[in-house]
Parts: sequence; structure tokens; C-alpha cells
Amino acid sequence: MIKIKGLNKVFRTEEVETAAINSISLEVEKGEFVAIMGPSGCGKSTLLNILGMLDSPTSGEYYLDGVEVGHMKESERTDTRKGKIGFVFQSFNLIEEMNVFENVELPLTYMKIKPSERKRRVEETLKRMSIDHRAGHFPTQLSGGQQQRVAIARAVVINPMLILADEPTGNLDSRNGKDVMELLLELNRQGTTIVMVTHSRHDASYAHRIINLFDGQVVTEVQSESLLR
Ligand code: ATP
Ligand code: MG
Repeated sequence: MIKIKGLNKVFRTEEVETAAINSISLEVEKGEFVAIMGPSGCGKSTLLNILGMLDSPTSGEYYLDGVEVGHMKESERTDTRKGKIGFVFQSFNLIEEMNVFENVELPLTYMKIKPSERKRRVEETLKRMSIDHRAGHFPTQLSGGQQQRVAIARAVVINPMLILADEPTGNLDSRNGKDVMELLLELNRQGTTIVMVTHSRHDASYAHRIINLFDGQVVTEVQSESLLR
């Protein structure tokens, strides 16, 4: 599903030039659950943003489902991404002025899906994420674990082929973190491909494979021998 070859990302400011991604090549199969680990600043989020087509590489190739998407224009990138990729972030990134239902409905509105269908899909997804009893609540009225479940609902409501998660349990206590990981595992078992950045060895053991980055390069790739799966 994902194939990148010789990918580079250089950030240039007036003072410094940072090679955040340094000639990375890797593949992710459909249905796989991959964890990306490595020290702070090694390029994990940069890589995830490129995989999610939120950012483009400086050079190198990125094929998503056989299509070169790395060097598309921004508008083309947005169109291609829409409805295919769901994002989950450490800080939840919910819209505070919108209630739970409206937050989860948002990507469907962007996709111009009609209101009755939107309502059906949002309700179904909130049930699946066990957060339907909070549909009318606002983000600030929810616990961290509940907010992350809403964020995952917003990512999965579009039935994405790929979920990208950047430290999804980073702001959660261990019990809520475990709930979120179980949810991601369940989605993966149902067929969704997942690429997740994490600092937690325990969370990484939910994955099939762990990719370790250092200074913008892949240093090791190991199959997880987890009993969690
Ligand atoms: P963390 O574990 O702390 O989240 P990370 O592995 O996700 O770290 P990145 O955010 O990918 O690290 O950053 C990789 C490098 O690129 C860092 O040196 C960072 O300072 C730099 N960088 C990231 N984004 C930008 C940007 N927009 N402009 C300039 N430099 C950037
Ligand atoms: Mg990061």
C-alpha cells in the first residue's frame, strides 16, 4: 500500500538547514500495523506527515496504492487524501466549539456526503467507539481517554484505508492508553492499515513490525513478537 524510495526532507530556515528525513526507503503492506520509534527529533512526525500527504518530501518517491503522491500540488494532494487517510494525534486536535457529533461529522461534510447518510455513519461510529452517550458533549467536558476515542471516531468515520497515529497515547494514563490501543488493534484486525509513532515499547508491541529511526534514517526493522496480538 505504501512504498517510499530514497525519501528526503530538508527544512530550511534562514539560519539552519535540517535534514529531518535522510534517504528513507520502506514499504507497508495492506493490513499491516507498523510502529515507528526513535528518539525525539529523529524525524518520526515528519515522516508521518509525509505519509499522510500533509507535507511533501524534498526529494524521493512516495507511492500510495501505486500512485506517486509525493510531488503532487497541494490542492491535488488534499483531494487525493480526502476520504482515504484518517489521522490521530497526541493532543486529540478536536474542535472545541463543536460537540462530539459535529466533530466526527466534519470529515463527511468535507466529502460532501448528504446529511441523512452523515447522521447514520456518525451514530454508527460513535457506538463502535463506545462514546455515543456523549454525542452532545463538548471536548472540554470529556476526559482525555474519551477525547481520544472521539478523535479516533473522526478518523474512522470515513472508512479510511490507512490510519496514521502520532503518539496516540502520549497524553493518556495507562488505563486510557490501553483502551485506545485495544481500539486501534481491533480496527487493524478488521482490515485497516495502521502506521503509529510511539515512544512506548508496550504500545509498539501491538504492531506487527517496529521501525526504529535515528537521525532521519531507518536503523532497524524488527518483527514484533508480541503476545498482545
Ligand atoms: P518527537 O519525538 O519529539 O516528536 P520527532 O521524531 O517527531 O520528535 P520531528 O518533529 O519529525 O521529530 O522533527 C525532526 C527534525 O526536523 C527536528 O530536528 C525538528 O527540529 C525539525 N523540524 C520539524 N519540523 C520542522 C519545521 N516545520 N521547520 C524546521 N524544522 C523542522
Ligand atoms: Mg513527533
